Amino acid sequence: MALHVRGVLLPDDEVRELWLDGDRVTFEPVPGAETVATGGYLLPGLVDAHCHIGIASGGRPVESLDQARELARIDRDAGVLAIRDAGSPYPYPQLDDDADGPRLARAGRHVAPVGRYLRDIGVEVAGGDLVATVAEQAKAGNGWVKLVGDWIDRDLGDLAPAFAADEFAAAIDAAHAAGARVATHTFSEDAVAVLVRAGVDSVEHGTGLSLDLVDELARRGTALVPTMINVRTFGNIAARAGEKFPAYAAHMRALGAGFPAVVRAAYEAGVPIYVGSDAGGGIEHGLAAQEMLLLHESAGMAPLDVLRAGSWGAREWLGFPGLVEGGLADLVVYDRDPRVDLTVLREPARVILRGRVL
Ligand SMILES: [Zn+2]
Repeated sequence: MALHVRGVLLPDDEVRELWLDGDRVTFEPVPGAETVATGGYLLPGLVDAHCHIGIASGGRPVESLDQARELARIDRDAGVLAIRDAGSPYPYPQLDDDADGPRLARAGRHVAPVGRYLRDIGVEVAGGDLVATVAEQAKAGNGWVKLVGDWIDRDLGDLAPAFAADEFAAAIDAAHAAGARVATHTFSEDAVAVLVRAGVDSVEHGTGLSLDLVDELARRGTALVPTMINVRTFGNIAARAGEKFPAYAAHMRALGAGFPAVVRAAYEAGVPIYVGSDAGGGIEHGLAAQEMLLLHESAGMAPLDVLRAGSWGAREWLGFPGLVEGGLADLVVYDRDPRVDLTVLREPARVILRGRVL
């Protein structure tokens, strides 16, 4: 049955009426539609643009489709109706059309250098095979490739780029030729500079961004997904590594401490910023709203820009049309205005996914 909704349709201030006819939005009345909301504030759901539903708590790959589905539902019930999975060791293309699951933009497995990423999570490649591996992982995903840009080099005792600059460039070209965009994990200063200039589409974490480089991101339209919840754990990473790798530990501490200023500079430079919790492994699912609060409180983003970063703007970026004529029938109702108080994002009053009330 078609659904009828009335409320303040953000980002505009007006009370609008809309109808959800199957999995489509229309502003033309649908006869016989059931009214399911008559007030409040309407968003096309939240978006977690850096999430891992293929990685279980503790950092091991999930072992079944059902386990991945369950993790996605934790996010969904928190109002997240679209996810970009930033790397999964477990393939789950069947969930793209799961009637009860959020929309999915997926990378394949993380593409990582040999012995230098989380154990059993990435596909590890020697330099020469990088292009072929990226082309393969582009097929395994549905539009994204996840490239590990840097990680600790234990011989060096510090962060170091995962591959050489010309290898990164060839890998990004290969992904683009296969029709995929590239998201890259970077913590350090060196790797992110090379990757941005090589044309990567989205910088994940990005703690090593400099002021010059944020201008370059803005100029190119390269996205930043800061995952501030993750970066706040850098102190713990440093504490665990400290005795064996003191330079790495000091580097991680400095990157973590400087990060709110980096995100603020990127925001002020006009870099497209999106919300990513980095759930999966060490971070719980269902924290997109918390990441949005951090972007506001810690990095100084205005509430409306935070909402764009974690809702309609992110959906547009990922190719999931929102509450526009002909858009997809995903909608979350909030009792209070999230522009006035972002904490209301933690308490969705009503969640509608693919035209059905949950
Ligand atoms: Zn991640």
